[in-house]
Amino acid sequence: METDIERLLYIYALQNAVKHDSAPKSGTVIGTVLGKHPEFRSRAKELGPLAGKAVAEVAKMSAAERKSRLLELAPELVAELTETHEKSRELPALEGAENGVVMRFAPNPSGPLHLGHARASVLNDYYVRRYGGRYVLRVEDTDPRRVDPEAYAMVLEDIEWLGLGITDIVYQSDRLDIYYDWCRKLIELGGAYVCVCDSERFRELKLKGKACPCRERTVEENLELWQKMLDGEFYEGDATVRVKTELDHPDPAMRDYSAMRIVNAPLHPRVENTVFPLMNFSVAVDDHLLGITHVIRGKDHIANTRRQRYLFDYFGWKPPVYRHYGRMGISGVVLSTSGMREGIRSGLYTGWDDIHLGTMRAIARRGIEPEAVRNAMIDIGIGETDISFSWENLYARNKELVDPKANRYFFVPDPVEVTVEEGPRREAHAALHPSDPARGVRTLVAEGRILLPRADIEGRSMVRLKDLYNIRIAWDGDTPRVSYAGDSLEEARSEKAPIIQWLPAETKLPCTLLRQDGSLEGFCEPLVAGETDRVVQFERIGFARVDSVDDGRVSAYFAHR
Ligand code: GLU
Repeated sequence: METDIERLLYIYALQNAVKHDSAPKSGTVIGTVLGKHPEFRSRAKELGPLAGKAVAEVAKMSAAERKSRLLELAPELVAELTETHEKSRELPALEGAENGVVMRFAPNPSGPLHLGHARASVLNDYYVRRYGGRYVLRVEDTDPRRVDPEAYAMVLEDIEWLGLGITDIVYQSDRLDIYYDWCRKLIELGGAYVCVCDSERFRELKLKGKACPCRERTVEENLELWQKMLDGEFYEGDATVRVKTELDHPDPAMRDYSAMRIVNAPLHPRVENTVFPLMNFSVAVDDHLLGITHVIRGKDHIANTRRQRYLFDYFGWKPPVYRHYGRMGISGVVLSTSGMREGIRSGLYTGWDDIHLGTMRAIARRGIEPEAVRNAMIDIGIGETDISFSWENLYARNKELVDPKANRYFFVPDPVEVTVEEGPRREAHAALHPSDPARGVRTLVAEGRILLPRADIEGRSMVRLKDLYNIRIAWDGDTPRVSYAGDSLEEARSEKAPIIQWLPAETKLPCTLLRQDGSLEGFCEPLVAGETDRVVQFERIGFARVDSVDDGRVSAYFAHR
């Protein structure tokens, strides 16, 4: 059907109609679509007429038709209707998991963990918790070119932060002899050969579905060549071990893929070897030897699963149960490890925790809690449909966690300092948390000069200062003249005066609120200095994590509204 956006509008119009058992409103449908797919926000203007069309179509259908059409197009949206949002949903059962599972998380130590890793690691973790069993962290460091020595520690830190229930840790670089052994066995079984063809030449033959001369060698000849590889008699690119698959396989990428190769430089940070298994070989051997029962990984690994099957077949091993989840587009942050590294090197990013990156450490710095990441990933689930990661949902999940904890404070960005004419001296007692009076209050004394957020008073003639009183504003060009306008909340309401935050000009702390789309400079309450490393709510602005207080200046990172 039509474009992506039309399809989305249509299915959410259906979902809305099924949920409320009445014809949907286009505004609601647009709101839902933009909430779930923020990437379409820039196109919000186009949505009106398209939503109108979708809504009109759905309005013509009977309740039963709507439901069956929705089941057909997006069964997960039907399921969603019966779930409550407070509780993480139950993911589908895994076959053969009843008696416990052994699962693994297998990152490459090329950088710290990012949102892509979070999905893989949380989903596997979820099932280990659900069924009981072991959860192996397998550090896949068999490509010396993609190993960042510092990533070993970062990966462990990130795993700890995420709270994964890892029970065993293995490093593939400790297991090279095991892979060599199984490689020899595969050669002995006639399932692999040493190929010394020029790689370009091999590629040409492969595309034509033809064997290269090396494929015809005897087992003995292959074993000899393999020994030479191990003895360092070949140089990088001169010899590789190939798994015999099918030369007429419709997907050329399946044909006689490489299992072992030589890497002379760079040297591996943990071992001196120069012969390394390629991913499919080490992954298959380890999944078997470590007794992995279930593998949950992305659809981008489907071709690898097929390649790995050949090895299970040759060795007569029972393969694990595989589930491949759909791709997840993530907007707004940089995710590629090489892109991040390059940006850090060039000074574009401050480090791996720069808030423009999608790493766990960047997210943590913004005050997003691991439990929120976990819940958001479980919300996404293991469905095969490609989706876009919803920042809005991650924020909603985080808000559930931080809202009850975060103390409230005033932060006045881009302040204007004014004297309130005839303003009485007043002490404002503002609750640290509105629904937890036991936490007490912050006391702000208004006498003489106060600070107001420029954007909130501009063009206004009356505002109410939160927990204080009303003020009237007369504008002399750009300069506001402010006078006391009584205490009546009713009056403020009837004049539609917004209630805004403020600060005494005398007692204030300089504060920078760092956001992905630029920083806000201003002042906050002095008590914020005691909230380092905690999430606070800057009233009317949003939740933020207080990162540091240096030389009397607070730096806080914006999380979400
Ligand atoms: N280390 C690989 C990766 O992170 C393999 C993962 C897997 O087999 O699931 O993509």
